[in-house]
Amino acid sequence: MKNSGSDKSISLILRIALSVVIVCVGATFLHVFDIKNFFQSNTTKAYEGHVHTAVAEINSQVDALRKVTDAFETAMIEASLNEEINGIILREEEYNSGYSFYFLAENGVLVSSAENEYSGDMYNSLQRLNEYSFTNDYLCLPANVFFTDKASADSILGIKRVDRESGENAYLIVKRELSRTLNDNTFDYLNNMGCFMVIDQEGEVLASTSSYRDYFNNNTNVYDGLLQISTQNNKAYDQINDLKKDIFTKISCSSEFEDENGNETVVFGGTFLNTKDLYYLYYFNPAILTENVNPVTTRSFLICLFMVLIMIVLLFYVWINLNESNELIMKLAYTDDVTGGYNYNYFRRNASDILKNNKEIPYLLLRFDIMNFRYINESYGHDRADKVLKATINEFEKVFNPRKELCVRVNSDQFVAIVINNIEFEEKYMKYLKGISDEANEAQIRYPIRLKVGMYQIKKEDSNIDLMIDRANAARKSIDITANVLTATYSDNIISNMRKVDAIESEMENSLKKGEFKVYVQPKWDISKDEILGGEALVRWIKNDGTMFYPSDFIPIFESNGFIENLDFYMLEQLCIKMKDMRKNDNEYKFYPISVNQSRVLINNPDYVKNVEKILKRYDTDVSKIQLEITENLFFDQREKMVEVITQLKDLGLELAMDDFGSGYSSLNILKDVPFDILKIDKVFFDESFISEASTVILRKIFEMAQELSIDVICEGVETKDQVEMLKGFGCHAVQGYYYGKPMPVDEFVEKYCLMKAAGNK
Ligand code: C2E
Ligand code: MG
Ligand code: MG
Repeated sequence: MKNSGSDKSISLILRIALSVVIVCVGATFLHVFDIKNFFQSNTTKAYEGHVHTAVAEINSQVDALRKVTDAFETAMIEASLNEEINGIILREEEYNSGYSFYFLAENGVLVSSAENEYSGDMYNSLQRLNEYSFTNDYLCLPANVFFTDKASADSILGIKRVDRESGENAYLIVKRELSRTLNDNTFDYLNNMGCFMVIDQEGEVLASTSSYRDYFNNNTNVYDGLLQISTQNNKAYDQINDLKKDIFTKISCSSEFEDENGNETVVFGGTFLNTKDLYYLYYFNPAILTENVNPVTTRSFLICLFMVLIMIVLLFYVWINLNESNELIMKLAYTDDVTGGYNYNYFRRNASDILKNNKEIPYLLLRFDIMNFRYINESYGHDRADKVLKATINEFEKVFNPRKELCVRVNSDQFVAIVINNIEFEEKYMKYLKGISDEANEAQIRYPIRLKVGMYQIKKEDSNIDLMIDRANAARKSIDITANVLTATYSDNIISNMRKVDAIESEMENSLKKGEFKVYVQPKWDISKDEILGGEALVRWIKNDGTMFYPSDFIPIFESNGFIENLDFYMLEQLCIKMKDMRKNDNEYKFYPISVNQSRVLINNPDYVKNVEKILKRYDTDVSKIQLEITENLFFDQREKMVEVITQLKDLGLELAMDDFGSGYSSLNILKDVPFDILKIDKVFFDESFISEASTVILRKIFEMAQELSIDVICEGVETKDQVEMLKGFGCHAVQGYYYGKPMPVDEFVEKYCLMKAAGNK
């Protein structure tokens, strides 16, 4: 079985699975990227802490310098002006641990504590200091603001503003080498992760950790150094300029930086408390990031990759399972257990697709069943009968094109198919029928396999498959199985027939209650004595408005909807009632046996014989005056069942007649097998088209055989004197036909033939 439906859903699942995997892979990479950023910023944050410790250290050194400056001031105030220099010297000894002391008088004269050290006119410097804003009269500055000598290059100054009586500012200045403050021991730990620098506003390095040399080749200006180790492109310039600006404007800042090898890193910067033009910079070692972050990133990436792989495997597993269960579901949903082919659901789902894809091809929709399949089932058993059903599908696939034509079983022996309607169709159809028959033969089924096929010619504009099936089915139902043509094509006639059927079915029950079904009786004639010998009850449906319907208009419908049982019992009952009525004055009437037709449908009713018995008893009927007629082709279908029912009916004292002998497929052998009393030869023998030497030979044979078996024979449909004469020649005594009388209302029959005074009239 092919699964186009399952393919669709599987490709959907595959698409969903792929989308999920793509989303997962995307999410994983984003996640890894996130992890990288997270670790990167966490690592730098951790180290940023160390930088702050270093800054705090410098701050405390600046503060310590302030304290020295305070002490210097106290010493100065205590000393007399004359003793100024001595006092300074004294104090210097006290604080002699790398400090130099100066006094900048309001006239710009700088006095140094140390002999031979810098002193002189510093008026310009005084003016500058006057412009600076001091916090609590204190400020820390890089020494190169004042001193241009090399020794001062890495020193800082603690400056205390002193108010003089003159109203002018004088300044007490304490100088200390930064290297003493920022010695490598204090900041050792910083060396491992980069380098720490104290710089002035131009970026001149006043002091640094020893690692500075390694990173910046001992460049005295840090911005020049940074530029040197950068990619030296516009981006690098911008980054360095941003850093310069930030350092001026912010207390602390950080900036990303990319070195010449493309390694990314971070530069921290900021200023100190109570200082001016004194900044720090920390250059973060790019290797640290690579060492710390990359392994974590790689690990997370691998974990994510592993998870994605597991997910893919799981999805694949789910997909395989879905695929399998889908196939199983499709198989269960679309396979017909009995034939092993597709089922009706599949047909309804796919036939439209086939038609749509082959719009230019003319198609027929066939709705068919196997004639008398129930009989095959009962006679040969389910297993063998099922072989016929299987053959119906298998042979179709052999003969027709399975890609463009499709046949499925609807239920029991009902099938539906779409076939291409071209010149080959007829030939293919015959081949198909032969194929099924051959298969049936192989299964030892000797019953001829015939299909009853309703066809619908599909039009281009048709799209509703159910409607097409209904139409083909209507055509199938319209087939009169007594006629030999077992195919019908849907047409407007069929619609009007269906409407008639609907009308009949909606009225039948009411009509029966209202007594619109009338008993007519046709006389049977003894041609040797030329007198009446009985009659046959035939139904007529006469509506209140007087319209009369003949049995052929409604009996087939009643047979297919089951209403025939009610009608047949009704006819029997009406006849019994009539006889009972007549018996009230039985001396006035002569009673002839009247036959009643019994449909084949009744035979399958398990209560049939009991019901007949009940009716007969209810009206105290003389059973010798009742005959039952059952149509010949029924014996053929259900011989054993028939023998059983006929025997039971005969046990009630009834005479049984086989009706319409010769109209169907029955053989003379049947006369031996089924114990009926009367054989009614069908009118077909007297059709002009049929009368031939062969038919007269057959008739003679029938009479001979019936005589041998002591079965009475009556010929139906005798219309001419010639026919009567011919039959006499065969030794026939009984006939029924228009020559002797047409069917007439029962009362008319009674009056004409049964009333003593009239009895025997022709
Ligand atoms: P049937 O039982 O074979 O009845 C004989 C049919 O042949 C009757 O048709 C009758 O009118 C017709 N007939 C009789 N003589 C001649 C003749 O000389 N020439 C021609 N052309 N026809 C003749 P009718 O009454 O139309 O009934 C047709 C069939 O309907 C019956 O055939 C019988 O099978 C069925 N039928 C009639 N009444 C009932 C009924 O109450 N129950 C059942 N189950 N079937 C019935
Ligand atoms: Mg009859
Ligand atoms: Mg008949």
